[in-house]
Amino acid sequence: MVVVSAPPLLTQRNVLSAVAGVCLFFLFLYHMTSSPTQRGPVRTYDGGVDIVRRKSPPTKQELGRAAWMLMHSIAGNFDDEPTVERRDAAQSFVRGLLELFPCSVCSDDFKERILTKYPIDVSSRRAFSLWTCKVHNEVNGKLNKPLVPCEHFDRFYLGIGEH
Ligand SMILES: Cc1cc2nc3c(=O)[nH]c(=O)nc-3n(C[C@H](O)[C@H](O)[C@H](O)COP(=O)(O)OP(=O)(O)OC[C@H]3O[C@@H](n4cnc5c(N)ncnc54)[C@H](O)[C@@H]3O)c2cc1C
Repeated sequence: MVVVSAPPLLTQRNVLSAVAGVCLFFLFLYHMTSSPTQRGPVRTYDGGVDIVRRKSPPTKQELGRAAWMLMHSIAGNFDDEPTVERRDAAQSFVRGLLELFPCSVCSDDFKERILTKYPIDVSSRRAFSLWTCKVHNEVNGKLNKPLVPCEHFDRFYLGIGEH
């Protein structure tokens, strides 16, 4: 009579498989319960940061980048010979942005120090563009970031780019 013994339950292979299974389970659990912010930025379809799906407010850096982009783009597309109304609108835009910018350390220093050194100049597209470049450089200098050469700058933000 041939006796076939059952394979032992606790082989090295079985133990390793069980440990791997438990690890995978906890990895899955971590992925499902951690917030998207902990897992890194959630991207919009074209590569921007999706604030709503990320469920956390914009950072000072994100706000800053967006505000600079808007300010440079508005200045870069301003009129060569603006009317009084257009100049007023540009002045109000800059003042309003600084008044309402939700980073008080940013706007307080800007209004007290930078605007005194560089009063807003909206006399033409070139003047407004150079002004935004110079004041941005002031903030770059404060944050030890590289400066942009403003004299070659005033056409970077002209028009709306396509990807
Ligand atoms: C009015 C204002 C005041 C701020 N003050 C502070 C502050 O006090 N403390 C703080 O921590 N943050 C401040 N910020 C935010 C800060 O300036 C940056 O926006 C943020 O740190 C993100 O920096 P970034 O390196 O991504 O590039 P950003 O400085 O946001 O610049 C965005 C892009 O603009 C281009 N750029 C850079 N310099 C120039 C220039 N001179 N002219 C034209 N284009 C340029 C570059 O391609 C750059 O990638 C302020 C922002 C604003 C709008």
